[in-house]
Amino acid sequence: TERTLVLIKPDGVSRGLIGEIIRRIERKGLALVALDLRNATREVAAGHYAEHEGKPFYGDLLDFITSGPVVAAIVEGPRAIAAWRQIAGGTDPVEKATPGTIRGDFALETQNNLVHGSDSPESAAREIALWFPGR
Ligand code: ATP
Repeated sequence: TERTLVLIKPDGVSRGLIGEIIRRIERKGLALVALDLRNATREVAAGHYAEHEGKPFYGDLLDFITSGPVVAAIVEGPRAIAAWRQIAGGTDPVEKATPGTIRGDFALETQNNLVHGSDSPESAAREIALWFPGR
């Protein structure tokens, strides 16, 4: 079994998509082992997106992710990292995400793409320690 860090970004929360997204996680057979609605601090946001520091969209990305509450979750199951990325869809909701995925069904813009998921076991460990210290 494997763990991944899932975020429902502020656009997903403000658009009332928490239930829809959680439903898809559960329907896939993945388990929620931690779940929390909170406002991300600038520090956590910067830590989360450290790999993007210096990119043209970095400042806007930090403003966006701290613009309102997010849902942070630890999701667990066999191949949870890839399984979540499959149901989330590709980063660009139009060019990469396919219909039937969360981004493919509900998003239009690359920044406001509703959700985040860890991209490797190393990222998952780092991100879980950042969002859920001690878990
Ligand atoms: P996430 O890490 O949120 O799951 P990802 O791994 O699919 O997304 P990354 O390339 O790590 O994508 O980018 C992180 C986030 O930064 C994206 O989800 C998106 O919100 C934002 N982003 C990425 N590329 C762009 C871009 N070209 N313009 C605006 N925002 C972007």
